Amino acid sequence: SSSIYGDYIKSVIRTVPDWPQPGVNFRDITPLLQNSAAFRKLIDSFVHRYQELEVDAVAAIDARGFIVGAPLAYELGCSFVPVRKKGKLPFRTISETYTLEYGESTVELHADAFREGDRIVLIDDIIATGGTMLAAASLIQRSGGHVVETATILDLPELGGSAKIQEAGYSVFSVCS
Ligand code: AMP
Repeated sequence: SSSIYGDYIKSVIRTVPDWPQPGVNFRDITPLLQNSAAFRKLIDSFVHRYQELEVDAVAAIDARGFIVGAPLAYELGCSFVPVRKKGKLPFRTISETYTLEYGESTVELHADAFREGDRIVLIDDIIATGGTMLAAASLIQRSGGHVVETATILDLPELGGSAKIQEAGYSVFSVCS
């Protein structure tokens, strides 16, 4: 699924070829963030989608997920919960390690982030292989929360991530792809 502003939002995301390594097309959201009208439309797209649902918390993925997750939580009037890279959260944590194309990565969540049955929107900037989103979603489930939907600015469907996330039983919303 995608929002009515999808084509516009997509037009203000910049592709930087061969960064950070040859063969990678890096999708750079900084031009979108610099454009106040585009940034407002982006956040409004998420707000519009979730304001009628009962959402207890927006969980956002370190670090670009925070940029969209915080204003979304503010507008919905719900909690904001950071899912962080390993070693950043000071209190008791639960963690999930997942494999990347080269090597592995770990995401962490505070053990007291959610109450049993909390309804959560999980957000990040981009879904590529889907590994990060899936690891974060399983952290939320392990902590007793229910992932209402995984949300992203941009889905890269050719990398298969959104399909993988849906196969795992989660709903996926992207503003553009
Ligand atoms: P993945 O776990 O493969 O879905 O990767 C998702 C994470 O990596 C997101 O947090 C993105 O910020 C980042 N990412 C992966 N691929 C790209 C890309 N081509 N351009 C920009 N960011 C990317």
